[in-house]
Amino acid sequence: MDAIERLDRSGLRGRGGAWFPAARKWQAVRAEGGLPVVVANGAEGEPGSIKDRWTMLRRADAVVAGLRAAAAALGADEAHVYLKGAFAAPAAALERALAAAPGLAVHLHRGEDSYVAGEETALLESIEGRKAWPRPKPPRPYSVGLHGRPTLVQNVETLSRVPAALSDPEAYRAGETTLVSIWGHVRRPGVHEVKLGTPLRAVIDDFAGGATDGIGLLFPGGPSAPPLSAAQGELALDPDALRAAGSGLGTASLLVVGASHCPLAVAVSLAAFFEREACGQCPPCVVGTGRLAGILRDLEAGTARARDLHYLREAAGFMQQHGYCAHARTGATAALGLLARFPDEVAAHVGAGRCPHGGHECDPFAPASAEQAAIEAALGAA
Ligand code: SF4
Repeated sequence: MDAIERLDRSGLRGRGGAWFPAARKWQAVRAEGGLPVVVANGAEGEPGSIKDRWTMLRRADAVVAGLRAAAAALGADEAHVYLKGAFAAPAAALERALAAAPGLAVHLHRGEDSYVAGEETALLESIEGRKAWPRPKPPRPYSVGLHGRPTLVQNVETLSRVPAALSDPEAYRAGETTLVSIWGHVRRPGVHEVKLGTPLRAVIDDFAGGATDGIGLLFPGGPSAPPLSAAQGELALDPDALRAAGSGLGTASLLVVGASHCPLAVAVSLAAFFEREACGQCPPCVVGTGRLAGILRDLEAGTARARDLHYLREAAGFMQQHGYCAHARTGATAALGLLARFPDEVAAHVGAGRCPHGGHECDPFAPASAEQAAIEAALGAA
């Protein structure tokens, strides 16, 4: 049985956010023929997610082994790791792992610190010496990637799981776990290895010491997936179950927002994140994220008119159809999903002409927010 077949049997799926089957990605690159390239994506940027840096710090040997196994399976003669410029310690850990295990040369790139630099085509642009901006698709990297060659871009956590998946595919499938960054209003923010299928509430209670303020909102996939209500806390930590519930597991950046916080304040925080991180290439994204954020600010402050909800849905619908990358689409879907969960809150804000919770009091997606600082500190202690 060859490596791709073994990977397929293991059921390993990508941990960069999409949960796409790794074997199908490898197969697509191989089917292109030619001389492929493999690239490890370590440019983690999702707010609250620390699991990729944790992986590079604690499991650098496995990342390197997984990257080289991918190169061998695909016949690649070139391997790269792309990290954010700020990731000095993970880069040093990878350098040590590479020095300790000679094999195919791996080039480390400390690139841009922007959020969008973690998008798979943006990092290819950056490695090629240009600004880290996403490319229009198609073509996708598996056919036209780095310097035009078929390219496998795979998240570092995914690669770290490849050695175990190839070694015993059935055992890997039977006991599959994933890394979860648990943050927000919990007693002990941090990163944990959790068995897929564990109920979200049990993840919060057993690994993070429980919520400090009850559960108002749960974001199982950071800002990139619509949130869940407290009543949905029994849903399983599973990409398919969460997608079926209208959310998603994404990078498993599990944010808990306390019950006393205004959900519309969180919606403003979410929309501001997408507005801030739009790279600037596509007008529908730049204009749409700004429009969405503006209307949500008015909504939260109680100054929005009823017809602004129509404008908001119009802008979101437009964003869902446009953009070189998923940023505009994701921002619109997440914001609409949040509002759909809390129709009574929206009506109360519009009806009262003010925030019934007393104003803006929760901004977890702001750069260096208290919630993000707490989990970043956990990474430092790892
Ligand atoms: S959709 Fe937004 S983030 Fe993505 S390439 Fe266009 S402007 Fe940049």
